[in-house]
Amino acid sequence: MTLRGRLTAAFLAVALGPVLLGAVFVASTVAAVDRSRATERLAVAATAVRTSIDALCQQLRAAADAVAVTADHAGTAAQVVSRGLAAAVLVTDVTGRVSYATPDPPPAPWRDCTARAAPGGPVSALVVRVQLRDAAGSALGTVAAALPIDPAFVARLAAATGVAVTLLDGLAPIQVAHTTESGTGRDAVLAAAASLRDEHVTGTTDGRYVRRAGPTVGQPLPLVLSVPSDQPPGLHAVLVTVVLMAALLGVAVAWRLARVTTRPLVELAGAADRVATGDLTARVPVRSGDEIGRLAVAFNRMTRETGGYLAALASSRDQLRGHLAVLGDTLASTHDLPRILRVILHSALAATGARAGAVLLTEQGEQLVARCSAGLDDSEPGAAPMRVPLGSGVVGAVAATGQPRRGRLESTGVAPDEPRCRTYIAVPFAAPDATGDAPGVAPVADAPDRPAEVVLGVLALYDRLGGEEFDDDDLTTLRTFARHAAVAVDNVRVHEEAQRLSLTDPLTGLWNYRYLRESLRREVERASRFGRMVSVLALDLDRFKRVNDTYGHAAGDTVLAEFARRVRGEIREVDLAFRRGGEEFVVLLPETDARGATIVAERLGAAVRDTPVTAVGHAGVRESIPVTVSIGIGVFPDHADTGPQVLAAADEALYAAKTASRDTWRLAPAREPSPTREVPVPAAARSPVDGLPRAGPDMPVAASDPSTGS
Ligand code: GH3
Ligand code: MG
Ligand code: MG
Repeated sequence: MTLRGRLTAAFLAVALGPVLLGAVFVASTVAAVDRSRATERLAVAATAVRTSIDALCQQLRAAADAVAVTADHAGTAAQVVSRGLAAAVLVTDVTGRVSYATPDPPPAPWRDCTARAAPGGPVSALVVRVQLRDAAGSALGTVAAALPIDPAFVARLAAATGVAVTLLDGLAPIQVAHTTESGTGRDAVLAAAASLRDEHVTGTTDGRYVRRAGPTVGQPLPLVLSVPSDQPPGLHAVLVTVVLMAALLGVAVAWRLARVTTRPLVELAGAADRVATGDLTARVPVRSGDEIGRLAVAFNRMTRETGGYLAALASSRDQLRGHLAVLGDTLASTHDLPRILRVILHSALAATGARAGAVLLTEQGEQLVARCSAGLDDSEPGAAPMRVPLGSGVVGAVAATGQPRRGRLESTGVAPDEPRCRTYIAVPFAAPDATGDAPGVAPVADAPDRPAEVVLGVLALYDRLGGEEFDDDDLTTLRTFARHAAVAVDNVRVHEEAQRLSLTDPLTGLWNYRYLRESLRREVERASRFGRMVSVLALDLDRFKRVNDTYGHAAGDTVLAEFARRVRGEIREVDLAFRRGGEEFVVLLPETDARGATIVAERLGAAVRDTPVTAVGHAGVRESIPVTVSIGIGVFPDHADTGPQVLAAADEALYAAKTASRDTWRLAPAREPSPTREVPVPAAARSPVDGLPRAGPDMPVAASDPSTGS
């Protein structure tokens, strides 16, 4: 059943119920009042009947008495009859023989006025008998005065009482003698009278009320009194019509009301269907300020705001796509670590809505150094990057434990370099540990099913926009993101490592010959462009073959590695040391003139010579191996104009050192001035006294050739 049907039925029940009840009440009240009034009228009529008959009996008694007291019975009787006091007078002797009778007496049976019982049978006349006595009081007979009970008598009674009167002719079976009722009324009254007892009132099928009146003591006639109902004709029809009209009206009003009520709901359901199919422009008309109107307003607001959210979501999705595209491109196509870190940081900021952040990478397994930051003090160009020791502060703890953290930054527990922000979230930058022994990074063991990871660093974000703390969703998102990003960073690391390996010598860790050529070209080119100097040292261990022969090849390798270590320890950070091959090495000294180079050569020779190398020789015996090195020095632009030429000059000087005495150094011979050179560099244009390199006027030579004894 539809809502409209249910509302209609409910309204009908509510509206029609009282109408029906009212109709029943009116009908029953009218019936009760009518019956009560009829009962009253019949009671009054019964009393009147009784009084009338009593008066008639008194009249008959008077008539009989008058005849009895006179001697001339006949004459008195005639007078009585003529005056209408009785219809007939009958005088009988003690034997019962009629001694005199007025003419035309009523036919038998006569009913005595004093009859105590109520015998059945027809009644033709009412009679009063008095005793006829002589002077002594002896009974002489009786005088009876009678009055006929005929239709006229009944009509007179009816007129006197105001109700219809019926005289019954016998009680079992009941028959009608005379009645003032009409034909149909007579049958109805007869039928009702059969069940009547005493003074009860009953109704007939044709709307009359009927009661018995006699026979009783003092009223010997079997009479039935009847009155028509006072009920307005057609009352029931009117009531039924009223109820039907009310029902029809109720149906119409209920239908209309239900329609008005359900229409907004139908519209709402239609709009909801449209929304369900994705049409968020669906709106419902607001027709009123009632509950349904408010529902419509709320629905419209809901769809409007959902549309807004959807638009925001779509735009955020597009943004995310953009970020992902940039991220994907960057991660996949470059080994430019700063750029990768920048993209990672900005993607993380966009994904979480953080104000600031930094990517910190572990260095030497001791501290975290911010390699990229945004929105922080150290983001300014030239600012020192944030440095946090492992295990210290928030990010240090994350790197040390491998466990992500989020929350509010307290003043305590923050490392000095960490930013002072309100909220933070920090996740480890961890990548699967391919080697199993990554140096300086902590293993992570929070997920046993995942392969072991190494913490490369920490991705830390600060101050979520909007003021709230970062939540668990942010943590999950960022953690997943950081894991992927860390793989990219690790790839760069691996790539850099591979590249480093391709350019380094595995035995000594120094750069190899390939990188020597590249570096030589680059440094000489730079020095040439900026008017600077570059020195090249060619080194060759003395009599190294003998070392191999004496102590074995392995000991020779140890000597080579130790030699490389000492070389590295003697040169500056910007200087480059190369293993050229075998026991031959090259050291490149940018921004260094001949004087500086000779100082370095001197120092290197001493560092090798002064301390013999300890190595395990043949038969596993630890040996102390004395080693010396010969060094040749070539300087740009003193000795040549190109990298290879400078190296060749240094080789030439090395050869000179070897031939001289070994365990010494030689400077390349000054070259002849070339007439074709555009800017001739005089042989005297050597290193300045202060040792600082410059391209300029001639300066006195500060370094001397040891072979010359200076
Ligand atoms: P000189 O003073 O003239 O340089 O004499 P030298 O013995 O060093 O000269 P030479 O160039 O003839 O010998 C170089 C030796 O260095 C030959 C080889 O046995 C040794 N050598 C070259 N490469 C390696 C290496 O990788 N490991 C070891 N242990 N020895 C090497
Ligand atoms: Mg050699
Ligand atoms: Mg040698």
